Amino acid sequence: MSVTHPVTHAAHPAPAVYDSPGFRALLRQDPQAADILYGEARRQADSLQMIAAENFTSPAVLAALGSPLANKYAEGYPGARHHGGCEIVDAAERLAVERAKALFGAEHVNVQPHSGSSAVLAAYAALLRPGDTVLAMGLPYGGHLTHGSPANFSGRWFDFVAYGVDAETGLVDLHQLRTLARHHRPKAIVCGSISYPRHPDYAAFREVADDVGAYLVADAAHPIGLVAGGAAPSPVPYADIVCATTHKVLRGPRGGMILCGAELADRVDRAVFPFTQGGAQMHTIAAKAVAFGEAATPAFASYAHQTVANARELAEALAGEGFTVLTGGTDTHIVGVDPAGLGVDGRTARGRLAAAGIVLDTCALPYGDGRGIRLGTAAVTTQGMGRGEMTRIAGLFAAAVREDAGVQARVRELAAGFPPYPS
Ligand SMILES: *Cc1c(COP(=O)(O)O)cnc(C)c1O
Repeated sequence: MSVTHPVTHAAHPAPAVYDSPGFRALLRQDPQAADILYGEARRQADSLQMIAAENFTSPAVLAALGSPLANKYAEGYPGARHHGGCEIVDAAERLAVERAKALFGAEHVNVQPHSGSSAVLAAYAALLRPGDTVLAMGLPYGGHLTHGSPANFSGRWFDFVAYGVDAETGLVDLHQLRTLARHHRPKAIVCGSISYPRHPDYAAFREVADDVGAYLVADAAHPIGLVAGGAAPSPVPYADIVCATTHKVLRGPRGGMILCGAELADRVDRAVFPFTQGGAQMHTIAAKAVAFGEAATPAFASYAHQTVANARELAEALAGEGFTVLTGGTDTHIVGVDPAGLGVDGRTARGRLAAAGIVLDTCALPYGDGRGIRLGTAAVTTQGMGRGEMTRIAGLFAAAVREDAGVQARVRELAAGFPPYPS
């Protein structure tokens, strides 16, 4: 079966991940929409996905997402729904909750947040009143929009104070954190970032929070998958509430979740539904259960460790190519680099890398106004790439930034050896 590429209009074979009766019916019924779905799968397979927040979910997770559970309305929680006919989807939500509790050693888990941002909104709703003071990493240092951006509900409804990182080392300045906490007496302290490549010192954050009587919220959207695989320390024993996504390193469906102790369980559940959300997305919750099942396997633990080993290898190889590696390395799947050594800023580098088929983001730099680039190894590690490929990727990076001829073909050749879905 072959379809027309939605952008280039060239004919190409349908990706094997769509070789199902459902997708064949879609192709017959709506070729225009099918072309877009097929074209995106092709794009993902033909280029290198190095956006730190992205990954490839398994065919099993995709099957749950595309299932008739998408039809079910289920406001409320298992055993206490506002709709009839929820007995089966209740089992899906109970399975997701039980698996997540076991995976993370949490007393309570809410798997309903539609996204990481929805999880953070609900965490604030559970703990805070509008106008309360919150201490979080500043956006110029890697804080998320939900950590006080004026363009986000968080910055509008709460009084955010920003802590930063040391300009020299790029590491969280715990002395500054403590000083700001004592001065501003926040109701909550948020630890977590979109680009920080090191583990937060959760014990130190807990101590500062206790010192000023603040709640500690860990926004572990990025590292929670590494935590599941035993490749990163867990915030669960330290934070009052842990917010997370299920689609980053954790490799599940696009969505969020909240972990907390038994004493906050009711407040968190009411903050999710009915305070900030309506009906739960039961197909996504079933897919979360499938992903938690996968994440509990030894295969996932080796994936998580390999993801970090690959990021370390890549950081080292990029330094060898003349890039400045932020914080001098990484403990996670994230690598931040300043490409200034190759004569360009982050925005220019991102454009040249995209033209070569290496897809990634820019990021804040702890010094000056320029941008760096942020990349992650979660997706390429799912594809089966190892340390040898990381060295190759670093060479391709430098070649792409220098705009050498023929880089795109070399990137495609590398990607072609590691198809994200079996064909
Ligand atoms: C990704 C991320 C989020 C938001 O997740 P979405 O699903 O995009 O809403 C929130 N906080 C942090 C730290 C993140 O990295």
